[in-house]
Amino acid sequence: MQRITRHLLVDEPETSYYVIRASREGPVVLVTAGIHGTEIAGVQAAERLRNIQLNQGTLIVIPTVNIRAYRRRERGKPDLNRTFPRRSSDKAKHRISRHLFALARRYQPEWCIDLHEANGFYRLDRSKLGQTLIAYPNQATVYTAKQVVAGLNQSITKGTRKFAVKQGKLYGSFRTAAGAVLGCRAITVETSMQQPRAVRVQYQVRIVRALLREIGLI
Ligand SMILES: [Zn+2]
Repeated sequence: MQRITRHLLVDEPETSYYVIRASREGPVVLVTAGIHGTEIAGVQAAERLRNIQLNQGTLIVIPTVNIRAYRRRERGKPDLNRTFPRRSSDKAKHRISRHLFALARRYQPEWCIDLHEANGFYRLDRSKLGQTLIAYPNQATVYTAKQVVAGLNQSITKGTRKFAVKQGKLYGSFRTAAGAVLGCRAITVETSMQQPRAVRVQYQVRIVRALLREIGLI
C-alpha cells in the first residue's frame, strides 16, 4: 500500500511535485529533473516514475523543476544549476532553486538524484559528461553508483556507450548543494544527447530504478 499526493513547488508557473509514501517507513529519496529545460529524457523518465510501486520509504519526484525553460526548450537563464547555495549560511540565488532547496531541507532526503543530459560520450572523450553518473564525493554514494553502472553496462554492447562513475563538486549545482549543505548522498545522472530520445529515457528510468533498488525502496 502507498499514498501519492501532489503538491505545488512553485505556483507561477505552476510546478508540481509528487510524494509517494509507502506504508512501511524507510529512506527518503528525492528525484529531480528539468533543472535544465533542454534535457528532456530526464523529465520524461521522472513522469514515468510517478507510478512506481514502493516497498518502503518515501519517494519525492519533481519532473520539471524549471517548467518555463522546459516549455521553451531552453537550458534556462540564469542557469538554475549554478544558483544553489555553497554553504548553509548562503541563500539560493533564484526563486525556483530557493523553493527546491527549502523542500529538500524540509524532507531531509537521504538521497538526491538529479536527472540531466549532456553532450558526447565520456568513454570516448573524457572532457564530455554524456553517459556518466556523477557522485558528490562520498564512499557509500560512489559504491552504490558503481553497483548500478556495473549492472546497466552488462546490457550495453558498444564500449563507448557504456556508463562511467565520476566524482565531483560543482558549486552552485543542486548535487553539490545537497551533498555539501544538506549532507545528502547526491548523484547527477547524465545521459548522452547523441542517442534517440527513447533510448535516453529508458536509461534514465533504469538507472533510477536500479538506484532505488540499491537504496531499498523497491
Ligand atoms: Zn543539465
